[in-house]
Amino acid sequence: MDKRILYRKAYRMLDDITPLKIDCGLLCKSRCCRGDSNMGMVMFPGEYGVFSEKQEFLRTRRENMNGSEVLFGTCTGRCDRKYRPLSCRIYPLVPVFDARGNLTVIMDPRARYTCPLVSGSLGLKISPMFKRRVCRIFKLLCGDSDIKKHISVLTSVIESYRKFTGD
Ligand code: SF4
Ligand code: SF4
Repeated sequence: MDKRILYRKAYRMLDDITPLKIDCGLLCKSRCCRGDSNMGMVMFPGEYGVFSEKQEFLRTRRENMNGSEVLFGTCTGRCDRKYRPLSCRIYPLVPVFDARGNLTVIMDPRARYTCPLVSGSLGLKISPMFKRRVCRIFKLLCGDSDIKKHISVLTSVIESYRKFTGD
């Protein structure tokens, strides 16, 4: 299936659901949107093609991530929510393959120092319904071999991070 169709479907499936029932950005002043141009969010393969026209808020750069070339998006801390990348929509969750090779969705350990939902500093837990929805979306997206490969790369990045931090 055309990747653009897959991503648009994923975006739609996330339209009515967020990590908490309330806007968590109000609790932390949207810390995950306050990166600088050295940071950014990884774009999924072909995701940039979803945008029919250039989105001014989004800059991109190519980077090598564990041997694979990926596109990173950076923004100015404001965006048209309609066009925000998938990584932003699912944050602080990330899809990975577990030790048995099954697709799962976990809290991104790299978000611990940014996101209170990962650190637990506000005593709030991410909505299980949100997690289930994100998992369903990636089961759908995994039907695409490029996206599946990208999730394998993400898995190796998370594993390396855990080894480095001892998590
Ligand atoms: S950092 Fe975490 S709590 Fe804050 S807006 Fe982002 S996802 Fe929500
Ligand atoms: S694109 Fe939007 S949601 Fe994503 S980091 Fe930037 S401001 Fe936040």
